[in-house]
Amino acid sequence: MSEQSAKAHPAANFIRHLIDADLAAGRHTGIRTRFPPEPNGYLHFGHAKSICLNFGLARDYGGACHLRFDDTNPEKEEQEYVDSIIDAVHWLGWEWGANLFYASNYFQQMYDCAEALIQAGLAYVDSQSAEAMRANRGTLTEAGKNSPYRDRTPAENLELFRRMKAGEFPDGAHVLRAKIDMAAPNINLRDPAIYRIRHAGHHNTGNAWCVYPMYAYAHPIEDAIERITHSICTLEFEDQRPFYDWLLDQLAELGSLQRPLPQQIEFARLNLTYVVLSKRKLIQLVEEKHVNGWDDPRLPTLVGARRRGYTPEGFRKFAEMIGVTKSDSLIDYSVFEECQRDVLNETALRRIAVLDPLKLVIDNYPEGEEEECFAPNHPQQPELGKRAVPFSRELWIERGDFVEVPPKGYFRLFPGNKVRLRYGFVVECTGCDQDAAGNVTAVHCNYFADSKSGTPGADAYKVKGNLHWISARHAYAAEVRLYDRLFKAPNPGAERDFLDDINPDSVKVIPAQLEPALKDAKPEDRFQFERHGYFVADRVDSRPGAPVFNRTVGLKDTWK
Ligand code: ATP
Ligand code: MG
Repeated sequence: MSEQSAKAHPAANFIRHLIDADLAAGRHTGIRTRFPPEPNGYLHFGHAKSICLNFGLARDYGGACHLRFDDTNPEKEEQEYVDSIIDAVHWLGWEWGANLFYASNYFQQMYDCAEALIQAGLAYVDSQSAEAMRANRGTLTEAGKNSPYRDRTPAENLELFRRMKAGEFPDGAHVLRAKIDMAAPNINLRDPAIYRIRHAGHHNTGNAWCVYPMYAYAHPIEDAIERITHSICTLEFEDQRPFYDWLLDQLAELGSLQRPLPQQIEFARLNLTYVVLSKRKLIQLVEEKHVNGWDDPRLPTLVGARRRGYTPEGFRKFAEMIGVTKSDSLIDYSVFEECQRDVLNETALRRIAVLDPLKLVIDNYPEGEEEECFAPNHPQQPELGKRAVPFSRELWIERGDFVEVPPKGYFRLFPGNKVRLRYGFVVECTGCDQDAAGNVTAVHCNYFADSKSGTPGADAYKVKGNLHWISARHAYAAEVRLYDRLFKAPNPGAERDFLDDINPDSVKVIPAQLEPALKDAKPEDRFQFERHGYFVADRVDSRPGAPVFNRTVGLKDTWK
């Protein structure tokens, strides 16, 4: 991705307008964004939208984008997730250089900020029970009630908070709350909890802490510490923005943080048909073994997408195409597939595969003899050259390319008809062999020795059918997985449990016959199997000299 080409047509959107205005007004001299995953699951297609947005803005404006693990919650987070997130963001094509951060490394600063708020009378230790706190919070139409502990003095609060930190109290005994306004129309401003007691080990800080910051408190501080200019998040955080601004403004006034402060901007999350993009549901699919692990090629995780053969370029193209908006929408999965096809069509080498093999015997071709035919590696890119494919007396063709009695408009093989064996010879069908049950076991034909593609005589033959084939003696017999959508409903779970919308035929494993060159495919090599679609050598199950292939996407949308 050259910076030039990306800059040439950055699609305008409301976030770019905002940034342009900020830069023009001198509010910032450059931009700094971040992608802040919580390492408690694998990234999915929705995260890819956020990643491409944040890293894409940093690239286009010559700024920086941080990869920050938002790991302030003890217990739920694991190194396995951290590693897979790093891999996935790299795979999508983005770099963060030295800008890799862990929110848990700011625990001391967050704690110091809390003490500063307490000393300024802007936070207090509340000792109400959880139920009382909930009851006193009020509703959308009713103001909340002040806690009886709200008027503790800064000195009392500081002492209690320090004892909370020292581990003197059990979980839930006290919380630290911001002191704002229990009658605020926005419930998020009714003295939100900012610290809780949690006696739990943390993957990074171990047992150093037993008080942990709440997300709504931690996140703005993380942004400010890292000098983020534009903190971009999904719409559900819109109601949190007043607290985000209140908190940072107070802390800047107190000298705990520096201006200019980051600005939160919300955009609509990605919703896609035929998939689920919720961590909870993805975890359920994996744990209940409806799929084979996080990287199952049917899952909309980025590890799954990679195994499926989807390209990072296709994800970036998709993100660019759907853009960002302020209103929720449901994007059709076929839009994503079309972006992938566009990229694969340009980049995937062509190869020949017979997925439902039937023997074709050329009775007038000498037994034991063979010769080479030449097939282009990419029809639109002749510079990629041609490769030799062996031709011999017995070939594999697709079972669907022969019928005994042709329906109207059928131009492929049937007794008496002539077709071209693509890149090879014209043959005329003479009949077929059948087993006792009447199943066709082999098709017979004769070939025309002067009809070879690329030779002077070839053009004299006019035929309508053009079939792909593989020399049986040279073929590479391999496992091919034909993946389909994991859900059969466009909006899984809309009308019943989402598990009941699972497509029972989302994968078919078949023994296929492939052209010999495919035996050397390396894991993650992508190809177009002519007439079939795009396939990738599986990065997990392939062995040297024995790749197995996954279907990424068909040549056309067959779901419409
Ligand atoms: P949870 O809230 O259950 O932790 P999450 O999907 O929000 O799940 P995070 O790790 O917090 O997980 O997400 C990291 C970033 O990805 C956040 O900034 C979030 O807004 C963004 N994100 C998550 N899902 C989507 C989506 N469907 N479309 C766009 N952005 C998303
Ligand atoms: Mg989240």
